[in-house]
Amino acid sequence: MIISFPHMGALSIVLQALFTSLGRKVILPPAISKRTLELGVKYSPEAVCLPFKITLGNFIEALDQGANTIVTCGGVGPCRLGYYAEVQKGILQGLGYEFEMIIIEPNLVNIINNVHRIAPKHSLREIYSAFRLALAKMNALDSIQRKVQTVRPREITRGASDALWKTAMDEINTADTIPALRTAWYDAEHKLDQEVKLKAGVNPLRIGVVGEIYVMLEPFVNLDLVRRLGQMGVEVHTTMQLSNYVNGHLFRKSEYLELFKHLTNLARPYLGHYVGGHGLKSIAYTVHMGQQNYDGMIHVFPFTCMPEVVAKNILPKVSNDVNIPVLSLAYDEQSGEAGVVTRLEAFIDLLEYRRSTNTY
Ligand code: SF4
Repeated sequence: MIISFPHMGALSIVLQALFTSLGRKVILPPAISKRTLELGVKYSPEAVCLPFKITLGNFIEALDQGANTIVTCGGVGPCRLGYYAEVQKGILQGLGYEFEMIIIEPNLVNIINNVHRIAPKHSLREIYSAFRLALAKMNALDSIQRKVQTVRPREITRGASDALWKTAMDEINTADTIPALRTAWYDAEHKLDQEVKLKAGVNPLRIGVVGEIYVMLEPFVNLDLVRRLGQMGVEVHTTMQLSNYVNGHLFRKSEYLELFKHLTNLARPYLGHYVGGHGLKSIAYTVHMGQQNYDGMIHVFPFTCMPEVVAKNILPKVSNDVNIPVLSLAYDEQSGEAGVVTRLEAFIDLLEYRRSTNTY
């Protein structure tokens, strides 16, 4: 069994740790590139959303490199995600690939069954250790990334925090024990605190990012939105990180369930029921961040994403009610850097003007 899986931000570091700790060989798909996108677009039905196309490209590139088992996610409506893996499996088989596909559904029983399939000879203790290391890497990466997003708009030397982030990712990737991981984590945060020289007296714009998880987390797809905004002098708060998803939706930890209840209540005047994906959270976080005096919100989603199209149509009313500007960015395979940058610059100008004239 040689395992591969799709890219989504730093997810590959977490899954590689998990599967190699379970004794499996992993072949990572090459980093997402124009070729990945072209392959995905070529073999996908036209109407599917962008994550389908790019992950299909990932699978083709990984199978070409020798992977024979694909691990991917399932889902339970109302959006189309639930049947995407089956459709992708059919397309790949039609192209002549021989492989096994393991579809992880968002519930613990399914995860445990699939882990036994991947590592049948491992004891519960070994499986626990593998998960512990992988989840610790996930938490470390999310924590460092949050700090980078705070430091980036304040740094004197452009790129200083990104260089530390890159080193941290490499060190976390290679850490094979919890103590080694903790050292890499501590070092990275310590250096971000102590070694990056900051401009004095800056008060950056604060922008929240809401929307669909894949677009929010994968820099190739969102055209490096978070780093770009940081380098334009904006402190970015992404409302979804991998750890939020895993701890909230898979492990259903009580603090996340409380948070989700609160978010549902915030969204209720605008949207009274679940519409799939993270559409409801896009509404709720916009209300929440408006109340917290954020300067603006950016709503990101793949073109034709049903839950986020619902949210997009409601957001103008939310924006008006809580007095926070919202920029919606729909991404597809035609999205170009120049168009996105122009819209971001115009949005930032607007937010700066509002701040300078105190028109809140
Ligand atoms: S959430 Fe949106 S992008 Fe993701 S699968 Fe559903 S419709 Fe597609």
